[in-house]
Amino acid sequence: MTEANNQNSHQARLRQIHDNMAKAAKLAQRDADATTLIAVSKTRSADEIMPLLNAGQRHFGENRVAEAAEKWPALRAAYPDITLHLIGQLQSNKAADAVALFDIIHALDRPSLAHALGKAMRETARHVPCFIQVNIGNEAQKGGCPIAELPQLLSIAHKENIPILGLMCLPPADVEPAPYFALLAELAAKNELQDLSMGMSDDYEIAIPLGATFIRVGTALFGQRKA
Ligand SMILES: *Cc1c(COP(=O)(O)O)cnc(C)c1O
Repeated sequence: MTEANNQNSHQARLRQIHDNMAKAAKLAQRDADATTLIAVSKTRSADEIMPLLNAGQRHFGENRVAEAAEKWPALRAAYPDITLHLIGQLQSNKAADAVALFDIIHALDRPSLAHALGKAMRETARHVPCFIQVNIGNEAQKGGCPIAELPQLLSIAHKENIPILGLMCLPPADVEPAPYFALLAELAAKNELQDLSMGMSDDYEIAIPLGATFIRVGTALFGQRKA
């Protein structure tokens, strides 16, 4: 693909997603600006990311600390107003690196990680806002805080002085996601949390009417991932 084609296709996809977001918001009588699009750039090179930056996209999501540390410092130097989101599982021994690199962390899911993040934030005086990831479908193989343990994890995060924006989830694959998005919204309301990180390429139009304030979209913006 030539550079010009690449630029056009990325811009067209971005426009299409913004159109779909506006339609989904309107149906639910929500403000179109109430939902922020995170472009999930995991596995994508800087060359693939540049056309989106040129088109004005500023929120990006990565799922691996090491990959983000390689790609983003140079891009950020060119575009200082980027907001970088960590959307993947985080090992406690990488908490300090994550606090140094990311602006918002969507993967707080257990007490040991809350302690590690709290310590890293105290030591650097960088208080990175976090989402608590909830295991919304109660799936054994998936990360995320069990629903029953959410109040306890919130209280630990509070004691650690971690700013909590809201709740994040990945609903079970291959079933209708709406009930899970609705449940996440209910849990957030019950705990007086404002933000909901939910909805990906296949289901963001379902997540927006149910209250998503951040959607995480990869494939619909960049095309299929190779690996
Ligand atoms: C990869 C990923 C996404 C984006 O998925 P797409 O289906 O490519 O839009 C969103 N959220 C998380 C946590 C991811 O790991």
